[in-house]
Amino acid sequence: MHRLEVLQAMHVVRVFSVFLLLSVFSPVALAQNKRIIIAASTLLDGKGNVFHNTRIVIEGSKIVAIDPKAEPIDYDLRGLTVLPGWIDSHVHITWSFGPDGKNAGGGTNTQDAAYAAAANAWATLMAGFTTVQSVGSPADIPLRDAIAKGQVPGPRILTAVQPLTGRGDQSGSPDEIRAFIRNQKAAGADLIKIFAANSIRRPEPTLSQEQLNAACDEAKKLGLRTLVHAYKDAVRMATLAGCTEIEHGPLASDADLKLMAQKGTWLDPQAGLVMENYLLNKEKFVGTPGFPEEVFPTVKEMIPVYHQFFQQALKIPGLKIVFGSDALAGSHGRNAEEFIDRVRDVGVDPMAAMVSANALAAEAMGMSDQIGSIAPGLQADIIALDGDPIKDITSVRRVVFVMKSGVVYKNFGVRRPAVAF
Ligand SMILES: [Zn+2]
Repeated sequence: MHRLEVLQAMHVVRVFSVFLLLSVFSPVALAQNKRIIIAASTLLDGKGNVFHNTRIVIEGSKIVAIDPKAEPIDYDLRGLTVLPGWIDSHVHITWSFGPDGKNAGGGTNTQDAAYAAAANAWATLMAGFTTVQSVGSPADIPLRDAIAKGQVPGPRILTAVQPLTGRGDQSGSPDEIRAFIRNQKAAGADLIKIFAANSIRRPEPTLSQEQLNAACDEAKKLGLRTLVHAYKDAVRMATLAGCTEIEHGPLASDADLKLMAQKGTWLDPQAGLVMENYLLNKEKFVGTPGFPEEVFPTVKEMIPVYHQFFQQALKIPGLKIVFGSDALAGSHGRNAEEFIDRVRDVGVDPMAAMVSANALAAEAMGMSDQIGSIAPGLQADIIALDGDPIKDITSVRRVVFVMKSGVVYKNFGVRRPAVAF
């Protein structure tokens, strides 16, 4: 071959490689209404139903049909478990370790922090989470928007921007709190995060009933949901204030939880990952703001307290429990460990665990018409596990296929029909 021909051939290869990269990472590049058919031998629809030997038909970003006779097959996921992409209702997507390896929080505005946040998003998507609710940081906004534009791969992000942190009278008058909520909306918030208590060690309310009423009422007027970090009495107060969802919740009484069920307030408790992660990465957290050495022994003691609270909540008829891992530095991409903790350590039914991160999470976000199940008209957010999570919950660690809005981001170890290149 002539040298020039070799060069031309190399150029073609290079151009083609760039095209392949673009087609993997840019939903825009794949926005054409190409028809894709996925074959599944076991399909969980996200609402608790199981289908066998069927096919999912996708056009553009959406599922258009479930048709066992559709062909030709583009992705053969038979032998795996196919289900909707998971939704994590509680993450801190920008919270990372800094260049020195230490906890850097989620609000750092440096180039390192921006890359770290993009890496968190990538890890989360690769772990099968196609939507996350970040609760929250102003730094979430550029990441959310870059992902939405297809510039950076990651899960769909909903963010609270700046949380309202309860500090008693210093949190402001009801009118000032209403102004704060309006400011978050103006800054692009998809929801509002409120801290109404400090911690399980110091569970006393940090906002008055009047302040909480103002926050959740103003958010409701703006069409925004309210997620309230609460323990003990703050759980009842947030429920009475008409807030949407309680995060964490331990030390709440049965009566408080029954009131939540009665009012339709969602509960997002945790079963272990967040605390296991603090212990696993202790050296990276210790000594950084909010993590003095003396808190670590109590973190370990808290794990059974959280388990018992979760079990208490499971016994309340009609209480709606969603999946939220509280993923932060060290646990991005390991969100699914929370499923294992819920099933193994708390006794959550495995199918209920899956639904809590699919249809139920979508309902809690008011997005049931877009995500959370595999049905015509919904976004083509589809993942596959090597294993069956209903029989073996640890298979949630083996995500081998990830599609978000019709774009395949991961396809590892999956048998595929021969393709042209
Ligand atoms: Zn959190």
